[in-house]
Amino acid sequence: MAEPVALQGVGAAPGVVVGPVLVIDLVEVVVPDLPDPDQAFADAAVAVQQDLAALAAQAKGRGRDEAADVLTAQSQMAEDPMLTGAVSEKLHAGLSLNAAIVEASAELSAMLRNLDDPYLAARAADVEEVVDRVARNLAGVPARNVVPGEPAVIISETLTAAETAQMDPEQVLGFVTETGGPTSHVVIIARSMGVPAVVGTGPVTEAVTTGETVAIDGRTGEVIVRPDDHRVDEFTKRSDAHRAAVTAAEAWRGKSVAYDERPLTVAANVANQSDLDRAVAEGADGIGLLRTEFLFLDRPEPPSEDEQYEFYRRAAAAFDDPVVIRTMDIGGDKPADYLTIPGEENPFLGVRGARLYRHHAEVFETQVRAILRAAADGDVWLMAPMVSTIEEIVDLRSWVNRIAEQTAGGLEPVPFGVMVEVPALALTVDAAAQHVDFLSIGSNDLTQYTLAADRTNEGLGHLQDAMHPSVVKLCELVAIGGKHAGISTSVCGLSAADPVAAAVYAAMGISKLSVSPSMVNQIKAAVAQLDPAGGARAVADAVAASSAVTARSAVEAWRSGP
Ligand code: PEP
Ligand code: MG
Repeated sequence: MAEPVALQGVGAAPGVVVGPVLVIDLVEVVVPDLPDPDQAFADAAVAVQQDLAALAAQAKGRGRDEAADVLTAQSQMAEDPMLTGAVSEKLHAGLSLNAAIVEASAELSAMLRNLDDPYLAARAADVEEVVDRVARNLAGVPARNVVPGEPAVIISETLTAAETAQMDPEQVLGFVTETGGPTSHVVIIARSMGVPAVVGTGPVTEAVTTGETVAIDGRTGEVIVRPDDHRVDEFTKRSDAHRAAVTAAEAWRGKSVAYDERPLTVAANVANQSDLDRAVAEGADGIGLLRTEFLFLDRPEPPSEDEQYEFYRRAAAAFDDPVVIRTMDIGGDKPADYLTIPGEENPFLGVRGARLYRHHAEVFETQVRAILRAAADGDVWLMAPMVSTIEEIVDLRSWVNRIAEQTAGGLEPVPFGVMVEVPALALTVDAAAQHVDFLSIGSNDLTQYTLAADRTNEGLGHLQDAMHPSVVKLCELVAIGGKHAGISTSVCGLSAADPVAAAVYAAMGISKLSVSPSMVNQIKAAVAQLDPAGGARAVADAVAASSAVTARSAVEAWRSGP
């Protein structure tokens, strides 16, 4: 047997598995020259559009809403005149049908990818998937077979949304892909199937063949091809520990948790209907962050007030606990063509989040009205993202109040809060807290702005740890400021779902953590097992540490007991 090979990717969906592999190879498709290539391409695009729409309907029927949404978007892309136009242009420039398709696909996807943005990069992959389907249709090559005969870890260079949507969750043990980042479709689908995923491993398809064994850890990103007995044992133990943690966490479903006799709310982060359903199923203590911008992306115009109201109302009605609705956070890594300010050198430092509202007042006002109306159905709180100064807070708050007053029939104001994700605001939290009803730390952005490291830059992963002492210190300032002001102070960035960071937040006096729905009960379990006796010391040690690594060890030492 060949030697074991260890590869390192990005852990994208938690879980550990050891099992047989199904390798899905990419076949190079060459489209033959056809008599009327323009028409042939247009016909094939229509056929693909129909196939994708049918797959979307199937996915929807199986309750796979995210997959259905992606497939619907792709079916629309197949009939987009921009695609047929790009191919037609190349044909008229004298290229063969195959070359025209290859070049048009490369140009359209590069155009999106060059905008250096993970959401548009994901759209670039969609364009490639759609064009690949059209090319296969023209070349008479069937779609790749991705249905394993027995449960297997699926390994591929990349996986299309359509492919993952066809997979039976019973047959999939996990995913490993050579390319892609933590926001790729395969990750979304892996999380919804509850199986581990590792992405961005580099050349793994060459290192393994179908039927061989692989061990993967979806948290650490480790992939061991042909593991020896010792590694199999180790990964099996990790897998047992992960399953035991998930099962133990079940006991916390619907229960409340406290730290040092102070209640600690564990709410859910929600971006769409399936997150909302899962948050309800997991018994989350309300919603700590409703990311509304996803309603605004990938469409030619903003959603209407009624469309927004309908979603906000459903979210509000689903819980007795507060539902924190964040006004659109567009710009940075989440542009919407009809809203973004053109020509920014540094979009993360540009007109992003609340800074955008003055440029698109009517869109903001419509959204605020939809949020305030939804408050009739639940305990709705309104939160603004990407705020840097007290002036901005005062201005936004009075604007929201004006919108409430000026709406025909009048609308009641709701609790108003802001995200703390810019160091300037964390450093002036005492003054800021006088003007808000609650605060929520966006640790993803607070980390990127504190360490001056673009959160989407794959090469700067080592600077994205919210346990860096500088970020822990800022969080502590916010926790103390919120406590003095007597207001709710939460953390809703990804770090709230990291048991080590969650422990330090609980110990510094944070009153709410908001995490992805699947993590709610694991975080409740992690908080419940803490011994408050050593908490203050652990926070002090983390703040005084010289690195994220040593800050983590200090907190781990406390968590694992004397
Ligand atoms: C954050 O920055 O931590 C956050 C929760 O907001 P987003 O990830 O949507 O920017
Ligand atoms: Mg943010």
